[in-house]
Amino acid sequence: MIVNEWCMYCGECAAVCPRSLIEVRENSLIFNEGCKECRICLKVCPVQALEKEEDSELS
Ligand code: SF4
Ligand code: SF4
Repeated sequence: MIVNEWCMYCGECAAVCPRSLIEVRENSLIFNEGCKECRICLKVCPVQALEKEEDSELS
């Protein structure tokens, strides 16, 4: 998962991850191992700050 500069560390993605894999720090997001690639976090982000690594490689 890639976090772009639009992220405002609101924590919404962390709140919805069914596996609680996302940790919000002051100026960073930590993605822990075990992502099921459900993409819920991408969909809830109000500013589209999350991208899947493979998606950005394709574009
Ligand atoms: S929901 Fe989006 S803006 Fe909020 S912490 Fe997650 S990536 Fe950043
Ligand atoms: S894709 Fe799903 S499992 Fe992976 S970090 Fe986002 S919400 Fe969590």
